[in-house]
Amino acid sequence: MKKFFEDMADEWVRMMTEAISTKPYSEQEKGVADIILRELEKMGVEGIRDDAGNVVGIIEGEEGGPTVLLDGHMDVVPEGNIDAWGEFDPFKPVVKDGRLYGRGTTDMLQGVFCQLFAFREIKRYVDKGNSFKGKLVFTAVVNEEPAESMGAIFLMDETLPKLGIKPDVCYLSEPTCGNLYIGQRGKVELVVDVFGKVAHSSAPWQGISAVEKARPLIDAIMNNFYKSPVTHEKLGFSAMTITDIEVSPGRMYSCVPDHCSITIYRRYVPPMTIKDTIKEIQDFIDYQSKADPEFKAEVHQRINTRTGYTGHAMEVKKQHPAWIDDPDNPYVKRSFEVLRSIGQDPEECYFIGGTDGSITCGVHNIPTIIYSFGDLNKSHKAQESCCIADEMMEIEGHTALICDSLGIDINAIG
Ligand SMILES: [Zn+2]
Repeated sequence: MKKFFEDMADEWVRMMTEAISTKPYSEQEKGVADIILRELEKMGVEGIRDDAGNVVGIIEGEEGGPTVLLDGHMDVVPEGNIDAWGEFDPFKPVVKDGRLYGRGTTDMLQGVFCQLFAFREIKRYVDKGNSFKGKLVFTAVVNEEPAESMGAIFLMDETLPKLGIKPDVCYLSEPTCGNLYIGQRGKVELVVDVFGKVAHSSAPWQGISAVEKARPLIDAIMNNFYKSPVTHEKLGFSAMTITDIEVSPGRMYSCVPDHCSITIYRRYVPPMTIKDTIKEIQDFIDYQSKADPEFKAEVHQRINTRTGYTGHAMEVKKQHPAWIDDPDNPYVKRSFEVLRSIGQDPEECYFIGGTDGSITCGVHNIPTIIYSFGDLNKSHKAQESCCIADEMMEIEGHTALICDSLGIDINAIG
């Protein structure tokens, strides 16, 4: 690594510490957004805060080059049982043995601030009188952790189109341990409501128990509808499981329940789509309704309403559409070569969890490359931490990827 990047460590740790201290749970990212806007202003970039609370900064180059999007999320998950943090306070970060400890040090304020530092290097390059062709767009979004991509949806559907920005490539900085993740298994939360007839529990034969009626469906789901999982050579295999069952009138009353609501987490891989996952259940409902005229059920996707810290509310589906980059895409191919040229050794990987790549690539077909030195194994856990030296390598990595995409000689940086 160039010493120039190593020397950024103290400032980076200070900024991360300040950001984490704002306790940026989902829908409470204002503190982090304010810090980023302040830093953009210091660089001489006009920061934009959109209605959802996302932050955008743009460096305009000359016409005729690509638009490069940098993206990360500002929110963090709750700390969990505080006792598991031991000597560490999740929201008062400290450095110990070269690591920074605190919530979001890996997932993923590290990525947001490494990209911001790399973005600043490009601004300094331009300020020195240099130019490049294209556009560099830094973004940090809200509300990723609830797994509905509210911030990313608003950014891609509203904010960037309004600014006339059509990205050619997106670098997402979720934790990848220095590897390159270029695809992701899909996930969708489905709800099946099974209906019966309410009756007194002392005479259950007078009602129709929704639980009783739900039994064949529960069995079918737990047995993958009696089929083999769908497999994909890169993204793995499909799976489903029940994560919640709710009945009503429920435990307070002596009633045969007339409603049983089953929550299903469905992981899927191409060529399957979310529509296919719903159709699979609908087909079973149709089959079962013929076999048992008393069987009544409906399936739908879970939809939640989320409200950003700005007060902006949106209805969002609980889903992460599957996506995979074309391995022959020049940005994807180059990303491996570029990181190798600066002495890094990225492996080709695929996410089994969810990211906003579902929106940038899954919905908007923008080649999306996930890269950072955040440690995937430390995400969402107690005593979350990152290696500060690795993070400086990440700043160098982001800078190299941006330079290569925009045709800037990395040796002219610094
Ligand atoms: Zn994350």
